[in-house]
Amino acid sequence: MTGTGHGATRHRAISFWYSEIDPPPRRRDPLDGSREADVCIVGAGFTGLWTAYSLLKADPSLEVVVLESEVVGFGASGRNGGWVEGRIAGDREHWAELGGRSGALALERAIQATVDEIGKVTAAEGIECDFTKGGTLTVAQTPLQLEKVRAEVEEDRAWGLGPEDSVLLDGPATTERVAVDGAVGARYSPHCARVQPAKLAVGLGEAVERLGATIHEGTRVTEIGPHLARTATGEVRAKFVVRATEAYTATLAGQRRVMLPITSCMIATEVLGPETWSALGWEAAETMLDGARRFVYIQRTGGGRIALGGRGTPYRYGSRTDAEHPPSSDAVRSLRERLVSLFPALGDVTVDGAWQGVLGAPRQWAPAVGIDRQTGLAWGGGYVGEGVAAANLAGRTLADLILGRDTDLTRLPWVGGLGRPWPPEPLRFAGVRGVNAMMEMADRREWRTDQTSLVGRVAHLISGR
Ligand SMILES: Cc1cc2nc3c(=O)[nH]c(=O)nc-3n(C[C@H](O)[C@H](O)[C@H](O)COP(=O)(O)OP(=O)(O)OC[C@H]3O[C@@H](n4cnc5c(N)ncnc54)[C@H](O)[C@@H]3O)c2cc1C
Repeated sequence: MTGTGHGATRHRAISFWYSEIDPPPRRRDPLDGSREADVCIVGAGFTGLWTAYSLLKADPSLEVVVLESEVVGFGASGRNGGWVEGRIAGDREHWAELGGRSGALALERAIQATVDEIGKVTAAEGIECDFTKGGTLTVAQTPLQLEKVRAEVEEDRAWGLGPEDSVLLDGPATTERVAVDGAVGARYSPHCARVQPAKLAVGLGEAVERLGATIHEGTRVTEIGPHLARTATGEVRAKFVVRATEAYTATLAGQRRVMLPITSCMIATEVLGPETWSALGWEAAETMLDGARRFVYIQRTGGGRIALGGRGTPYRYGSRTDAEHPPSSDAVRSLRERLVSLFPALGDVTVDGAWQGVLGAPRQWAPAVGIDRQTGLAWGGGYVGEGVAAANLAGRTLADLILGRDTDLTRLPWVGGLGRPWPPEPLRFAGVRGVNAMMEMADRREWRTDQTSLVGRVAHLISGR
């Protein structure tokens, strides 16, 4: 991961989303020499950019410098499924352990409200990123999957969430929304919007600069220390240094076991014609998940395509984050097959783009934001696969923490540390590969037998997910 490559080609190599941005984003100058700042943010993904945005909205006089090893939106933020989901990774019991039941619910309400917050800011800043709030569906195609989505809705009720938060749809009510083949039901929640993520990242980078931040691209930070971010071409001394490097955190000195990089792979179809769309329904542009353990996530894009993502390159020894090559033809074929099994009418559909990216998972499988006021070090991330909305909430919370404010956000239970680190290699490699193989086996068995697989349960217990 170095600052190689230029202009349009470099951006388009990140993900198919960038090919929809015309003209391509401009490149920014690297850091050249040392400097001082109030806040130095490492990483120009959603976490870094929303932190810079929130800080400068709160105090326009701050000097904020963002250091990015590649380009704005190079990481997961410019590659993801575009779900702005009113959900946060980590189950409710985990959050209740940290903040009690009321804390868990406060976090849930805060992340739900974040969906509208992103809609509001993108509109106010003129960021055209296809933001559409159509809610989200988890679709069941087997009775076993239906039991799982029913249990999710029941759990919502047990936690005090009402029908305005989630409902169970039967088969016909599901297919009336989206004509998924063989759908027997779904959980529907209104708390989700879809966006074109690269457009959001690029637009946010520009908004942050309009507010006065400086972004240096092609500037890899090698080490973060108290009030310091070190690079090959200079260092930034700052009152606060924010680590917003998510899945790439292992590349920083001393941070190898903080975050596990998990690769996820996506495809985008050709633009579908009006007859296909009228056959599929999908008028509200709901985001969609299938009911498998190793699920696929789907959106109807603003450009008239279907973008679908799921499993990617298996975990690489030593937490390597090499997602810069196209996904294997097997991975693309398997995602395309999954698409066709949901929508058999797309049997001849052409795949126009395939790419992959890395998301970050901490050992506790749930994110955190925090600050150490003595060293000036702050951090945000560990969203697993649910970081598009959560990064906005993290950015607003980090701004309050940095400014020393005591607010509803700084009292949420995810404010703190990321817990235990991952075990060292080769244990990490064996564990992650083993659990993945078990999940895969469980999916195959459950699809075939319509019975909960014991192997799946064991994998769930081992991994805590
Ligand atoms: C394929 C895929 C699909 C996903 N789909 C969804 C979805 O639909 N909805 C959802 O909520 N979440 C989704 N996620 C997760 C979501 O995209 C991420 O959680 C979120 O974008 C994380 O934002 P971030 O800014 O913390 O990290 P990133 O976007 O990864 O940004 C980190 C940045 O730091 C830079 N960097 C790293 N190391 C250094 C260094 N040493 N020096 C300087 N810069 C550095 C990187 O280049 C990168 O730009 C998906 C992720 C992937 C990979």
